[in-house]
Amino acid sequence: MSHNRPRVCLESTLLFAIPICLLAAFAQPSPTHPDSIVVFAPHPDDEVIGCAGIMMQALARGAQVKVVAITNGDGFPAAAAGVTHKPVDQVGPDDFLTLSRLRQTESRTALEILGGRAADLIVFGYPDSDLGNLYDSTDDKVFRQQFTKKNETYALIQKDYHTSVHGKPAPYQRSSVLGDLVELLTTLQPTEIYVTDETDGHIDHRAAFWFVRDAARQVGYKGAFYTYLVHGLPSWPFPPEITPNLRFESRKVDGEVAPRGLPWPPPRRVPLTREQAQRKLESIQAHNIPVVGLPDHQKEMESFVKSEEVFWTPLARSR
Ligand SMILES: [Zn+2]
Repeated sequence: MSHNRPRVCLESTLLFAIPICLLAAFAQPSPTHPDSIVVFAPHPDDEVIGCAGIMMQALARGAQVKVVAITNGDGFPAAAAGVTHKPVDQVGPDDFLTLSRLRQTESRTALEILGGRAADLIVFGYPDSDLGNLYDSTDDKVFRQQFTKKNETYALIQKDYHTSVHGKPAPYQRSSVLGDLVELLTTLQPTEIYVTDETDGHIDHRAAFWFVRDAARQVGYKGAFYTYLVHGLPSWPFPPEITPNLRFESRKVDGEVAPRGLPWPPPRRVPLTREQAQRKLESIQAHNIPVVGLPDHQKEMESFVKSEEVFWTPLARSR
């Protein structure tokens, strides 16, 4: 989730660096696995909001589960202010790095809550809030993120993907994002891909879809391709509370059927047990960050706890 929208996903950090060699998990490409899922999260937290149940169920059956944080979640001034106890207009690059480090830590913790390994979190380290600009870039220019002032991939408590594989970071360029995705899909050869939907109200979430779709096409990916919805328009989810006994619903908002632009019922509904819904809640709570001016932020993230998870298959008809 994110910042420039009035909702959920954060982007985040911790103050102590742990120079562990968790990078080995992707420095040495994992062998292909007959049951392997990859969840792409535009920001740290999207993975559990959309796919905590899917990950739990996959882990329980022995599947390989990887989470890819495409950005560091380092472009959220209200969260950087909340974490560092500063006014929003006084946060600087170091504060965004503090947020980034915390959010990475939180994703690792959340993955462990679901039964996964922290080492299966892959951090691409691209710039939060600039994914759309990167995707639209036609001249492959190098971007400098306005908040951290970084212009190349990084991660703070493990190595970013590109550095772990190539020994140096990748510049913030369109071709870098696509190149990392193509390489990762080629290495992991997942049987299921999950990414945010193209109808999502957050540009980073739409761009994540476009990048992952393009990479999947480039490698001739033949597995299942699912999307999940975080910032559904004009409002989402329904019911807008934690309701572990209830399914997701479509509703009319101001005369418009929500979620906008997607078929309902969704093509795939995955039931969660009560215990799985509870663990999903705990994994979302692992992403708790104070956000200045958005006191309901955490509650909105937790409202994705339902008796199911829902997915769409936008590429099914084009293949
Ligand atoms: Zn997000």
